[in-house]
Amino acid sequence: MTETRLRFPPSPTGYLHIGGARTALYNWLFAKKTGGKLILRIEDTDAERSTEESINGILDGLKWLGIDWDEGPYFQTRFSDDHLAAARKLLDQGNAYKCFCTKEVLDAKREAALAAKQNLGYDGTCRHLKPAEVRAKEEAGIPFVVRFRVPERQGTLGYDDKVLGRIECDYREVDDFVIVRSNGKPLYLLCNVVDDIRDKISHIIRGQDHMTNTTRQVLLYEALGAPLPVFAHIPLTLDTKKAKISKRSHGEIVAVHFYREHGFIPWAFNNFLALLGWSPGNDREIFTRQEMIEAFTLERINKSSSIFNFRKDDPKFFTDPKAIAINEHYLRTMAIEEIGELVRQELEEAGLWNQEYAGEKRQWYLKTLDLIRERFHTLKDFATLGRAYFAEDFRIEDKPLQKNVLKFPELQDWLPALADRYARMDEFSAEEAERLARELAEEKDVKPGVIINGMRTVVTGQLAGPSMIEVLTAIGRDRVVQRLRRTGELF
Ligand code: GLU
Repeated sequence: MTETRLRFPPSPTGYLHIGGARTALYNWLFAKKTGGKLILRIEDTDAERSTEESINGILDGLKWLGIDWDEGPYFQTRFSDDHLAAARKLLDQGNAYKCFCTKEVLDAKREAALAAKQNLGYDGTCRHLKPAEVRAKEEAGIPFVVRFRVPERQGTLGYDDKVLGRIECDYREVDDFVIVRSNGKPLYLLCNVVDDIRDKISHIIRGQDHMTNTTRQVLLYEALGAPLPVFAHIPLTLDTKKAKISKRSHGEIVAVHFYREHGFIPWAFNNFLALLGWSPGNDREIFTRQEMIEAFTLERINKSSSIFNFRKDDPKFFTDPKAIAINEHYLRTMAIEEIGELVRQELEEAGLWNQEYAGEKRQWYLKTLDLIRERFHTLKDFATLGRAYFAEDFRIEDKPLQKNVLKFPELQDWLPALADRYARMDEFSAEEAERLARELAEEKDVKPGVIINGMRTVVTGQLAGPSMIEVLTAIGRDRVVQRLRRTGELF
């Protein structure tokens, strides 16, 4: 049996976006599932639009996602000899011809066809030029492109698509398409096939937007004498208004780096991407890496478009709620040591990391993360909402400040008094600390909530969080006392 070989061949003309990442993921999953190889090829033949920045962005994005490859990155521009040799072979075999029609003439014909509501394709003017005529035009220095000669056959050309079934189209619907520009540069359509043949690609998993290319590329495979790979065209991803998602209309939200910057867990994001166009056939949504590899099949890729459910007008969600929900699931259930590593990067970036968290305070660090992760959505939250656990300069949120502190001016005296009682305790146990808080409430004849909520706000800056007993233990006596004593500064 021949080896299963897949490829991810991005054009480096922008950042890695959700659609590209999903294509990469499906190829990766299929390679892992079949024990095949994944080849990374940077299709950088469009010199004007390809940038170094974009190449690095794509590589970084794939690395962040954990999508690794077995070969490459190969750079398409390094293989231009292969592309030209293929073009020459097609010319020599008569599968391609030189076309001397100028742009002006073609444009005029197109307009006339448009007005007459006729076929807009190339009319084949140069298709039947005699060798002597071709030579004469070349000698006269008339520029030419190279066109593929679509066979004059009855019937249909087609291929079996793993997702969509048999795809067919009438030969007459395909024009003689250009494979080499007038500047001598081969076009994507040809380069892509030549590279896939050279790289012995057995399966091509790519977006449905490439289907018109596939029809023409099927002809190139045949003319170049290569077997057809298996094709699997995956559905497009649309927004809730059925428009294609793009940077122009959706902004950074469609970029993979957005999710890294917003504290998503890489595998959680892959899990979300996988479900954006593939389904296991039941309601299951959470898959470990290994489970996803096992469950993934090309046949279960959806035929119709998938919806990236993002509503700009809903401030509660800064991206698709499903992406957030899946991330929360992982945040709360992953081994705490793994979360510890991921949060470490966040704390380092925020300047909150303390080397002791990896040493003598490791137990405290992991226990605290385990305590606070329950309400968090992303890794960023540890350094923002959870800042009070790691630093003194945390922000007191406005809502709890108003509701739990400023509304009760007496807290300016009561909380420092509680701090004094805490400072005098022989041993700081959380249960005893809570008892003292309730006792103080009784003395002052207020509900315990007034003291406890006030304390929560002053100590953590947050409206809600873990139980107060656990908070006190995690923050520790010294810091609790210090913060309670400074309650007056908030008024
Ligand atoms: N460079 C093409 C793209 O980024 C590759 C398409 C393909 O053949 O998969 O769209």
